[in-house]
Amino acid sequence: MLSDHSLQLDKLQSPLFNEYGVSMYVVRLDLIHPIISGNKIFKLHYYIKEALETIDKKVVTFGGAFSNHLVATAYCCQLLGIKCIGIVRGERPGILSHTLMHCLDYGMELEFISRTDYKKSEQNYNYIKEQYNDCLIIPEGGFSHLGAKGAAKIMDNEALHSATHICTAVGTATTLAGIVLNATHSQEIIGIPVIKNMEDLWDRLPYLINDSTKKTPSIFNDYHFGGYAKKTNELIDFMNEFYTEFNIPTDFVYTAKMCYGVIDKIREGYFPKGSEIYCLHTGGLQGNASLPKGTLVF
Ligand SMILES: *Cc1c(COP(=O)(O)O)cnc(C)c1O
Repeated sequence: MLSDHSLQLDKLQSPLFNEYGVSMYVVRLDLIHPIISGNKIFKLHYYIKEALETIDKKVVTFGGAFSNHLVATAYCCQLLGIKCIGIVRGERPGILSHTLMHCLDYGMELEFISRTDYKKSEQNYNYIKEQYNDCLIIPEGGFSHLGAKGAAKIMDNEALHSATHICTAVGTATTLAGIVLNATHSQEIIGIPVIKNMEDLWDRLPYLINDSTKKTPSIFNDYHFGGYAKKTNELIDFMNEFYTEFNIPTDFVYTAKMCYGVIDKIREGYFPKGSEIYCLHTGGLQGNASLPKGTLVF
């Protein structure tokens, strides 16, 4: 599924970039597919491959009610005729989120479990294994070495080879790890966590990367806007301005925070003159449907 796409690269034009002598590009992974958007298709790559190689394999994975990962997995599985189960954090709500409705539309079976049990299964896959012993278990957000190995395929794109800096939003850190796996030592890889105080990031990365010869990424910690899926008016204004100026839609959970952070750091003079800054648009636009109508101009 990954072989037949060509990557769109948008070079942003603004006096700001001229002033600081840098170039900023948005790598449009979001355009690869409207549903299996952005980074998710990459993180799923090897799991889906494994599921396809096993007769009658079922897939089980996890996520919250607005999870881009769940809906991407659901769609992917439907496309390839793989049965799949989504374990959803929290009790079944009276009205399902648009994300979960789409999961059902794509044939995913949903199971709602309490937050306590969810945590238990997330931390201890044996707990899940007993119940789903006929299934291939994909950790939440593809968080695993296999997920990172899939995300590393983002770097197969030649367009990314001329980057001096590659920036990505960080949720589970699987995508960041994948980029680090396949970057050259002259490239600086930058992660922008969308979670407040992500203390376990430096445990996550060695687990995912498992190769001490790889260069340590840089982390911009100040752009979580209050925490996961939190937003401020400033962030929403930024998204609308970014769209008006560059014609690129962003999502409020991940890519808007990343773009905001990168532009803020350009203004701070973080990037040396001549920098070629590539920002991964990891998709996630379906999540904007949870905002009140009229919040965004796109
Ligand atoms: C899931 C997601 C991320 C986070 O990727 P991780 O590999 O979990 O760090 C970033 N951006 C978007 C749009 C996503 O949906």
